[in-house]
Amino acid sequence: MSSIDDLLQNNSVNDVSTDDGKKSDTVLSVPVKKEEKEENNVEEKKEQKVEEKKDGLEGHFSSAEEKLDEKINIMKGKKHEDELKIKAQNIGLGHINLKGIPIPADVLTKIPFDFCKENSVICFYYVPHGKTRIAISENVIDLLPNIKSTLPEEFSKIEIEWFLTSKPSFEAGFKQYERIPKIKEPVRGVEINVEDFESMSNQVNSLQDIKEKIKGVSVTELVTLIVAAGIKTEASDIHIEAEVDGIKLRYRIDGVLHTAAVIDKDMWQQMISRIKLLAELKLNITSKPQDGRFSIFLTDDKLDVRLSTLPTAYGESVVMRLLRSKSIGLKFSDLGLTDKWMRMLTKQIKRPNGMIITTGPTGSGKTTTLYAVLNELNSSETKIITVEDPIEYELKGVNQSQVDAKRGYTFDKGLRSIVRQDPDIIMVGEMRDLETVDIALNAALTGHLVLSTLHTNDAAGAVPRFLAMGAKPYLLAPALNLVMAQRLIRKLCEKCKKPTELKPEIEEKVKQLVDNLPEEDKQKIDISQTQFYTSAGCSECNDLGYKGRIGIFEMFEMTPEIAQVILSNEVSEYKIRDIAKKDGMFAMVQDGIIKAAQGVTSIEEVFRMTE
Ligand SMILES: [Zn+2]
Repeated sequence: MSSIDDLLQNNSVNDVSTDDGKKSDTVLSVPVKKEEKEENNVEEKKEQKVEEKKDGLEGHFSSAEEKLDEKINIMKGKKHEDELKIKAQNIGLGHINLKGIPIPADVLTKIPFDFCKENSVICFYYVPHGKTRIAISENVIDLLPNIKSTLPEEFSKIEIEWFLTSKPSFEAGFKQYERIPKIKEPVRGVEINVEDFESMSNQVNSLQDIKEKIKGVSVTELVTLIVAAGIKTEASDIHIEAEVDGIKLRYRIDGVLHTAAVIDKDMWQQMISRIKLLAELKLNITSKPQDGRFSIFLTDDKLDVRLSTLPTAYGESVVMRLLRSKSIGLKFSDLGLTDKWMRMLTKQIKRPNGMIITTGPTGSGKTTTLYAVLNELNSSETKIITVEDPIEYELKGVNQSQVDAKRGYTFDKGLRSIVRQDPDIIMVGEMRDLETVDIALNAALTGHLVLSTLHTNDAAGAVPRFLAMGAKPYLLAPALNLVMAQRLIRKLCEKCKKPTELKPEIEEKVKQLVDNLPEEDKQKIDISQTQFYTSAGCSECNDLGYKGRIGIFEMFEMTPEIAQVILSNEVSEYKIRDIAKKDGMFAMVQDGIIKAAQGVTSIEEVFRMTE
């Protein structure tokens, strides 16, 4: 389709005086391509059918009569447009018929969807230093002065030309919002007062403090306290669970759940109501799970809380996920990539096309890794679009869209519309179905760098998983550039970590894993000379002994040999792993041991996360 600019510049334009009395180019009728014309006729036919039903005349027309009626309807439509044109002239506006005119997404979204829906106005032409053109539907023309004064802020500084448009034309323009990836709407922070939050936050310094503080606070304060403590302890999730004899409050810190307190059951009804109000959930629904979210705007950060409720035998339980906008670990260099992996990943993300996959279970940090990659690639010359569920961090300059199954915006549909937006880089939150995989592989083969994640235990497992989902080997082999797997392991608290000796059987295991490293990596570790550390616990780390997490990785690049296996129809995880090992891959557990040898983590932690 040609762009609106082409249509406006190259097609028949008539002069109509506008607001300021000056003559200006105004579209009276824009010729559309043949197929679009036919489409329009089809639409008009449909409209006519509806009218027939209304009149109760359905079935009474012979086909010749129907044709005649069609013609009459088309003529009626034309006549109406002509009349509207004259009306527009009389009130000093332009006139436009938006049917069959594609409006670029970035122009359309100058006016947000909700504003368009509420006020029946559409932005259909926009250039940075020229006049902006906005169409207003005929049925709200009397409200024009009001609408003008409530337009989004950015319109206050630019010159606008107004165009009158018919109702069907407006509908045609309005429909175009459907194909735009839904960009997350800003959520306004309500209910939890910032001052209360920050004062509460100053009173809790550890999980131990919560137990003390909980006594004697009001329900409102209690909910604020619970969230503030989550931020203070750097928790990722807060679990509030109704149990037989109380409400258990637990925090997930660095991937591990810790019980902080048990709250009196009597408070629960009020607490859950307060929580539901915050997240705009329905108070009266208690037997079905609900999802919602709320935001808190802090002095120097914004906190989003996504929460879900679940009915259980003892009442509703709540899980809150804390999403910080100013997030740690989004820098490429903070991921914890050993030099070898850093070189490999850096090389692969600079390629203009192909697919990079990270694998691992939920909570293994794979999305964070992709965000770090996007941050690294983000520049004004690069167009990046994502479809995610959920958007975990907001990245400036990246078009992020949120899966919304209720509105039919799923991974595959989102991906389909993203590809039409001509991006350089696409991030798909997850590959869950063949449709998504197919579109992603095609995008990777047609000049896009595609980043995504898969749920498999290790890197080698990704290839058989793709094939099991139905991916075609002849698309997968040339599209796939790099597969990585990862886990997050907790870092020892720098304040209180202490040297330790490994038990003989553990030492033996560690030795074997080091012996199995590729020659070049083995040389860097001498087990007999290595001091390992363990956790002790201090006030700095909530007595947990660990603070913060870091990734351990394994990865392999596509080689002719791996491609050959994929095409052979005899793929197995073992085969892929064998070739990758031969090419220098070592396993996540070995990467973990390298980090333990550097004193970053403990051997127990490495085995806990990899066994
Ligand atoms: Zn400590």
